[in-house]
Amino acid sequence: MSIGGAATEGEGLGPLAEPRLHCWHTGVLLSEGEAPALSPNARAGGEPPRFCGQCGRRMVVQVHPRGWSATCSRHGSVDSEVWERFVLQQKLRETAQ
Ligand SMILES: [Zn+2]
Repeated sequence: MSIGGAATEGEGLGPLAEPRLHCWHTGVLLSEGEAPALSPNARAGGEPPRFCGQCGRRMVVQVHPRGWSATCSRHGSVDSEVWERFVLQQKLRETAQ
């Protein structure tokens, strides 16, 4: 179901949606306002998140010819395309500071 065909910001992010509670790579609970540190490989977009940012569950990562998708049983899945865009936004945000 979409309204007017316009994508809402954050839509489809699932495990990446804000606010983020857990680190994607370690699953540890983050304190409020803390940004998870991304490994250099993850920052390059080459490393999929392993844990859901919402609940810290280990996600099922499936690699396919065009990239990968990581799925949380509760919060849905995120694919490499979304992740790369997300990492890019994160970098731009840091650069702007
Ligand atoms: Zn989850």
